[in-house]
This record gives sequence, C-alpha cells and structure tokens, in this order.
Amino acid sequence: MNLVHEDLAAAWRQARPRPAGRHLDSAASSRQSSRALEAAAHHARHEAELGGYVAEAAAEGLLQQGRSVLAGLVGMAAADLAFVESAQAAFVALLTGWQLPAGSRVACLPGEYAPNIAQLGAHGLRPEPLPVDGIGRADVDGVARLLAKDPPRFVHLTHVPSHRGVLQPAAEIAALCRAAGVPLVLDAAQSLGHVDTDVGADVVYGTSRKWLTGPRGVGLLVVRPAIAAQLRPVLPDRDDVPPMRAFESGEAHVAGRIGLTVSVGDHLAAGPDRVRERLAAVGRATRLLLDGVAGWSVVEPADEPTATTTLRPPDGADVVATRTRLLTEHGIVVSAIGPERAPGEMTGPVLRVSPHVDVTTEDLEALAEAL
Ligand SMILES: *Cc1c(COP(=O)(O)O)cnc(C)c1O
Repeated sequence: MNLVHEDLAAAWRQARPRPAGRHLDSAASSRQSSRALEAAAHHARHEAELGGYVAEAAAEGLLQQGRSVLAGLVGMAAADLAFVESAQAAFVALLTGWQLPAGSRVACLPGEYAPNIAQLGAHGLRPEPLPVDGIGRADVDGVARLLAKDPPRFVHLTHVPSHRGVLQPAAEIAALCRAAGVPLVLDAAQSLGHVDTDVGADVVYGTSRKWLTGPRGVGLLVVRPAIAAQLRPVLPDRDDVPPMRAFESGEAHVAGRIGLTVSVGDHLAAGPDRVRERLAAVGRATRLLLDGVAGWSVVEPADEPTATTTLRPPDGADVVATRTRLLTEHGIVVSAIGPERAPGEMTGPVLRVSPHVDVTTEDLEALAEAL
C-alpha cells in the first residue's frame, strides 16, 4: 500500500511490541508504545520504592504536562482538564456536577451511543434527535433551524460514532451553538488522536486507549471555565488547585495517567496532522479493498476522513461468529458491533475494522482473503 507518510507506519510499528497477529481494532483498544508501557511500569516501581503518594507528588510535573498537552488537543488549557477513569466516567462526572433540572432537553444524534442515552436518562434528561442525512451525519442547516426555533439545554455530539466511521461536522455545529448560546458537549472517545478535535466545543471528553494509544482505565474530561463554573463537585473545591481538579478521583491508576501522557507526547512528536492524513488514507484503502468482498458491503463513503470501516454482512452471515473465526483461525483482531450499540440508527450488526497508521496492504488482503 502506498499511502501518505509511510515513515509514520514504520516508526509506529518499531515503537511497539510485536503484535501476536493482525491488530485492526484501534476503535476498541490500540497497541501502546514500549515507551508508554515502560513509563507506566516505572511509575508503579516508584510507588513500591517511595510509597504511592510520594511517587504521585514526584510525578506531578509530568502529569501537569499531560493535562496541558491533552487539553491543547481540544483547544483548552491544563486547568480545564480532569483525568478520570474512562469516557463514560467523564460523562457521568459532567452530568453529576451540572445538576440540570429534570426534563431538560438534550439534542443528540439519532445514532447516539446507547450508554450515553442511558446516562442522560439516569440523570433525568430528555434526549431529542438532531436532524441527520441518510448516513447519520448531522444536517448543519437543520441544526441551525433547531437551535433558532427551540434550543435544547445543550447539544451532545458524538464526533465519530463507535458503530460507523462517519465524521460529524463538529466545528460547524460548535459555531452554531456558540452563536445560539447553547453549550456543545463533544464525545471525542473515537476522535481524539484520530481527527481534529480542536473544534470549539464547550466540553470534550474521551478515553486514552483508543486512537491516542494510551493505557486502558484512563479517560479525560475537559470543560471551558464558563461551564466549569456551573458544575458542583461532590466534594468541596480546594483553593490551591483549579476547580476541575475536584472531578479527578483521589484514588486512581496514576501509572496509567503517566502512560497516557507519554502516548500523547508520541502523538505530538509524530505530528497530529500527519497522523490524521495517514489515518484517512488508511480508511480509504480499507474501504476500497474490502467493499464487495464475499458479499460484505462497506457502510461509509470511501473518502470519509477516518480510519474506521464497518461492513454489513451478506445474507446469512453471522457477524459475531465471523469475528471469532477471524481471531481464532487467522489471528485478525476486529470487532462485531450489534445494533444495541446505536439502536436509533443501526438496523443490523456490522463488522468493524479500525487499523492504526501501521496497517499494511498485506494485513488488509489477509482480512479480505479470510472473509
Ligand atoms: C468507547 C466509547 C465510549 C466509552 O468509552 P469508555 O472509555 O469505554 O467509557 C463513549 N463513546 C464512544 C463514541 C465510544 O466509542
């Protein structure tokens, strides 16, 4: 495969342990670099040597760099960011702190991630659909009309869904929301490290383990000061730290936060714009190579600028069984996504293929052959 920035692929591969098979599943969980793994292990060793709290205090400068660089990816500052345990934990922390009146309306995609809809419901909020086109992409003019006519309490936008590699027009929607005075909350679990996330949202949350290639068990919540001022943490603020720090749990996988800090440093060193260009080219190559193979059909437009491809099965093919067969017989790691993931949009299961920058033509041909 002759894609842009071939050098990134080689460097990315070389920076990691050898994969046991063909890992095409970054939308679920990426492969960490050796440097990130070693940094986390080094911190864990420090905890054993110095004591957990002493080691954490000694690492505070590094953690603060992590907050700064991660917040920078979404156009905010270190003080705006809280390390949490997952994207879901970030959304829960936001809703718990915001304490919006029961029944408040929240506009979100019809194809919204089901656990997000469940969290809105658990916090007494009422999801309402944003207008979309046939593939589930927000219709910007329709969103403008909705904001003018009947503005919701906030807009929640999942930037790239987990069940479909479609990029939502987040910057356009952020501009509309800002003009209408409606906060925009961006679920960036699938977009951090994958596409441009500096789009002007008021709240951005995401996770370490997907496209940023950090460890599992770490997430982030980033909130502009105007919204942060509306949040009430369960425990009172401390005067000596920024208010968002109240949303970091005191007990945490600190070594994981350090692993993420190193991962995002690698991402910056590679050049986020180059990574994005490479991932878009990977998505296009994947779709062109797989569409129509053995009756599987690609859902996304070929040129969608993401690396996530989903495949609808041919009649009679079992997606879960196919995923298992690919793993056990061919060592190919992909995901089976059932319609319960996004019941407002999916009509059946899909096979999700989400390679990172290191994928080779040989990997994709092996998948096509196995299918
Ligand atoms: C993975 C994912 C989440 C949840 O992330 P966790 O870190 O597992 O909580 C939320 N939204 C989307 C779109 C996701 O893909």
